[in-house]
Amino acid sequence: MTIATIDPTTGTTLKTFEPFTAEQVEEKIHAADAAFRELQRTTFAERAEWMRKAAEILESEADDVARLITTEMGKTFSTAKYEALKSATGMRFYADNAERYLTPETPVEPSAVNASALSVRFDPIGVVLAVMPWNYPLWQAVRFAAPALMAGNTGLLKHASNVPQCALYLGDLFERGGFPRGAFQTLLVEGKDVAPLLDDRRIRAATLTGSVAAGASLAAAAGKNVKKTVLELGGTDVFVVLPSADVDKAAQAAVGARVQNSGQSCIAAKRYYVHEDVYDAFAEKFVAGMAAAKAGNPLSDDSAFGPLATERGRQDVQELVEDAVSKGATVLVGGEVPEGEGWFYPATVLSDVNPDMRIYREECFGPVACLYRVGSIDDAIERSNDSDFGLSSSVWTTDEEEIARLGREIEAGGVFVNGVTASFPAVPFGGVKDSGYGRELSAFGIREFVNVKTVWQA
Ligand code: NDP
Repeated sequence: MTIATIDPTTGTTLKTFEPFTAEQVEEKIHAADAAFRELQRTTFAERAEWMRKAAEILESEADDVARLITTEMGKTFSTAKYEALKSATGMRFYADNAERYLTPETPVEPSAVNASALSVRFDPIGVVLAVMPWNYPLWQAVRFAAPALMAGNTGLLKHASNVPQCALYLGDLFERGGFPRGAFQTLLVEGKDVAPLLDDRRIRAATLTGSVAAGASLAAAAGKNVKKTVLELGGTDVFVVLPSADVDKAAQAAVGARVQNSGQSCIAAKRYYVHEDVYDAFAEKFVAGMAAAKAGNPLSDDSAFGPLATERGRQDVQELVEDAVSKGATVLVGGEVPEGEGWFYPATVLSDVNPDMRIYREECFGPVACLYRVGSIDDAIERSNDSDFGLSSSVWTTDEEEIARLGREIEAGGVFVNGVTASFPAVPFGGVKDSGYGRELSAFGIREFVNVKTVWQA
């Protein structure tokens, strides 16, 4: 894939970019390493001031940034603006909380380990490479950058090749806020050229959000070099509805859970397991809601969602639906690529999906829901866990015992009860199984890339 801005609403290539040469990449790594030496000697207060200033700049430019996001990857302007503002909020959150999260601890009385003084420090480790996806081009990158910079690390952002202008914007933002030159920079390189970067001794760790294939490739390169990684790799999240649930509310939320970001969200609900007692009532409302959720021009307030981000992405979605239909799935709504320009795909609901179909196991990165009937909570839990992924889940019930069981037994990094999965700066985010490992956000996120250092004094 070339590095380019291609408007998904029209399919028009607006701007192309040359990948950085080896010399340019070297310059950036050198600058990141030099900036780390400087940044590790700064105080939390100094870094917080720069972070807040960068957040202020982002807020003041939110409209322009939102237009850029919409142009490069097709989400609606209103959701793009929300993303820009949420990113600024995340930056302020770490400006406010990083010092508290990383204050040295004394795990036991020093005398218990024959010391006169003892502390466990959380020191920065150096340059961290962040490989990021296009679906939340600002928020995904910022939720790495804000904790990393506040911890005193420096960052190199290898963003997805279809959002180069968002990438370049982010590459300037933190320096404009006051961080030293080189503290956070964008590398315009293609995905296939990422692995060799892990051989560079100045790059100490890496994080990736994206597909399992990309994550596995990065982790292999890092593992070979004994470097830590954090991976956030998508999911096939469940939406479980049990008899005591508020079915109207669940059905309404179920639509947003699937069509958010044109269905291109790792935490979008993809598999709907509905108890047979409420299946018909839920299905009727959900399918009607999906039929009413219209894809359209992302700049218009009337569009529920925009086009898919790439032509390839739409092809992948179409292939999964065609495969399912050819093997007996029923299309309750949608399922056809519309005529006309742009990479639109309609809100779609499939039923009669079985394990022979690719969509039963694979992540469908578009607005396609699979609706299943289940006979009991045991059935719902067993089928929820019959997945290679385990990112998050949304469960609907008012029965306290069921809530406790679902919270305990669903194999995922999150269980959202009577609500839709979302990310919050203060709450850990990440998955199990093929959804990856490590956590982003909260205290857990900022502690991923630190040296937990024991200082013991006789
Ligand atoms: P990719 O995983 O290919 O892209 C995500 C990021 O990884 C991009 O920056 C990409 O760069 C980079 N990358 C790609 N290959 C490698 C590699 N071998 N080593 C290191 N970095 C690499 O996702 P796609 O955009 O192609 O989407 C494919 C599928 O991945 C989706 O359908 C979805 O299932 C999943 N996905 C999940 C996301 C999530 O939020 N968890 C986000 C995006 C995708 P480049 O753009 O240059 O290839």
